[in-house]
Amino acid sequence: MLCRTLGRTDLEVGVVSLGCEHLIDKPKGHAVSVIRAAMDAGVNYLDVFWAQPGIRDEYGEAIAGRREEVLVAGHLGASCQDGQYARTRDLALSEEYVHDLLKRLRTDYLDVLFLHNCDEPDDYEVVMSQHYPLADRFRQEGKARFIGFSGHNPPIALRAVTSGLVDLIMIQIHMLEHSREGRQELLDACLERNIGLIAMKPYAGGRLLREHASEAVTPVSCLAYALAQRGVTTVLPGPQDHAELRDALSYVDATDAQRDFSQALQDLGTVESASCVYCNHCLPCPVSIDIAAVTRLLDMAQRGAREMAREAYARLTVKASECVECGDCAERCPWDVDAPAAIAEAAEVLE
Ligand code: SF4
Ligand code: SF4
Repeated sequence: MLCRTLGRTDLEVGVVSLGCEHLIDKPKGHAVSVIRAAMDAGVNYLDVFWAQPGIRDEYGEAIAGRREEVLVAGHLGASCQDGQYARTRDLALSEEYVHDLLKRLRTDYLDVLFLHNCDEPDDYEVVMSQHYPLADRFRQEGKARFIGFSGHNPPIALRAVTSGLVDLIMIQIHMLEHSREGRQELLDACLERNIGLIAMKPYAGGRLLREHASEAVTPVSCLAYALAQRGVTTVLPGPQDHAELRDALSYVDATDAQRDFSQALQDLGTVESASCVYCNHCLPCPVSIDIAAVTRLLDMAQRGAREMAREAYARLTVKASECVECGDCAERCPWDVDAPAAIAEAAEVLE
């Protein structure tokens, strides 16, 4: 499994992680079996937000004896009431359920403790003024290595990033929200501040595969899309069984053609402007410029992370200045991006 560094945590995380959301309410042992299969395939990051005792016990059984192989992310603010999951802002209850998670996981620490599911301005104030200090206490006690922030609202997540208090962000990244307001600003801010970004819901909560499945819209193209977005470290599909796990893991050995998400984006019609989506549909380039890589770094530099972009650019084997201005890429781009102009600009900005 290819790994990437999870921002300033310096944790090395496989590009495909495991959301354990849909392993609940299955026969006993099912979650254990799927989680172990994922770990056997090289998955090393598990998100475990449910608070019900049965599924938490299965998480614990799945990682028993293998704790060091895997990074575990739990959530502060997930509780269980009358047998059902319930988000809570009650501090004592939140604390109790973190201790419960540690006990059921049979571990004494979480790698990440997320401030759980925060999307509203008023709730943000509560979470950052009350839950963050509690999460920080868990960190000081060695019960959580890093603090994350999870939610679905890019401007709220952006506030968490700019606060400087959280180490990573988890938010949905999928093709149906390609042009969602505030998303690019969030991705840029994560990059600039070296905040790891975990892309959850790559299938849009299942909608992409349920309502739009086609030769172009596949599990592999959905994961490839999420992983191609600026700053994304790992993608978090939530398979409900072994078959869906295999579908997700097929990304690892997929061909470039199978990972090509440009047709899917076109079919879905979610790209609004002539902006590069980093799909490399414009290749081949006669001098072998990796056009998507160059345009991604150009965008990064133009949005403020210039030094980081220049460092990454220095590692590219073929530079933008080697462009012979043939114009082929512009003709092939499905989004009408003026790729030759972007490449010329990249040569100026990045070299
Ligand atoms: S220039 Fe067009 S085809 Fe090339 S990577 Fe960007 S969006 Fe894709
Ligand atoms: S215009 Fe430049 S970047 Fe585009 S295909 Fe031709 S040589 Fe490659």
